Amino acid sequence: MTQAKTGEPAASTGFVRLALDIGGTKLAAAVIEPDGRPAEPIRVPTPPSDVWAACRDLLTEVAAGQPVDAVGISSAGPVDLPAGSVAPINIPEWAADGFPIVAAIENHVPGARVRLAGDGVCAVLAEHRFGAARGEPNCIGMVVSTGIGGGIILNGRPVTGRTGNAGHLGHVVVVDPDGDPCTCGGRGCVETVASGPHSVRWAQAHGWTGADGKQLAEDARTGHPVALAALERAGRAVGSVLASVAATVDAPLAVVGGGFSLSGAPLWDPLLAAVAEHAGLSFLHGFRVVPAELGSGSSLIGAACLVDDPTD
Ligand SMILES: [Zn+2]
Repeated sequence: MTQAKTGEPAASTGFVRLALDIGGTKLAAAVIEPDGRPAEPIRVPTPPSDVWAACRDLLTEVAAGQPVDAVGISSAGPVDLPAGSVAPINIPEWAADGFPIVAAIENHVPGARVRLAGDGVCAVLAEHRFGAARGEPNCIGMVVSTGIGGGIILNGRPVTGRTGNAGHLGHVVVVDPDGDPCTCGGRGCVETVASGPHSVRWAQAHGWTGADGKQLAEDARTGHPVALAALERAGRAVGSVLASVAATVDAPLAVVGGGFSLSGAPLWDPLLAAVAEHAGLSFLHGFRVVPAELGSGSSLIGAACLVDDPTD
């Protein structure tokens, strides 16, 4: 495998640490700054084939000839931490058999410490470290977008579970155990109710003629009854899941991010109403749900946090 370029003589002043974010539509990588955050990343579209070559080239480019001593990886899931592999459902080349990303990077940058986590875990880790959950050792993160992902931090540590996929909140079954079929093989998961595309489909089936989640949110804000109903349905589902999971893991804070979470009051009002309705247990008094602060770069920031863990 290609080694990182050695660069110009005397250009390197020491080792650098890199963060890599592997998503279904784009790849991003950056050098990690001394404060633990990634520098301005380089982004490329995820190619339909040879995704590894694209990751490797991206790492080589951001390292810019400097020696690398650590790489943190955020990847769309599922991930398999014990195997060091990823099998993102939206990267067809890797989805079936998985790709051993940790070994590939260890071969590419020998001696580097390589850490991997799913993008939902990375997103909540980033919010915990630098964003809306700063200073809160117990929190839930949910990403509401094309799909629904998530992650859980307990006692200041990300919860991984057996394979690294703990906190995958998108497949909590909420409202309707006989609901729509889901990509996971189940039915009625919150993802089938509250993700952007599923909300759009529901609205279309009820007479709304728009095309995407952004337009759905705009129409809801101007009072379109079907758009409002679609976002109310999504918001209530998300709020119910967050209250249930908060009760399960005893966390006082949930952070909600992802493109579809930016739908404003038509989503958030029913979300918070559902939370108020369902978070009734005494230890959940004061349970808060807040918008994410770090935007679409949060998984890359979380990837950077993986290599910056002092307890590691
Ligand atoms: Zn599902």
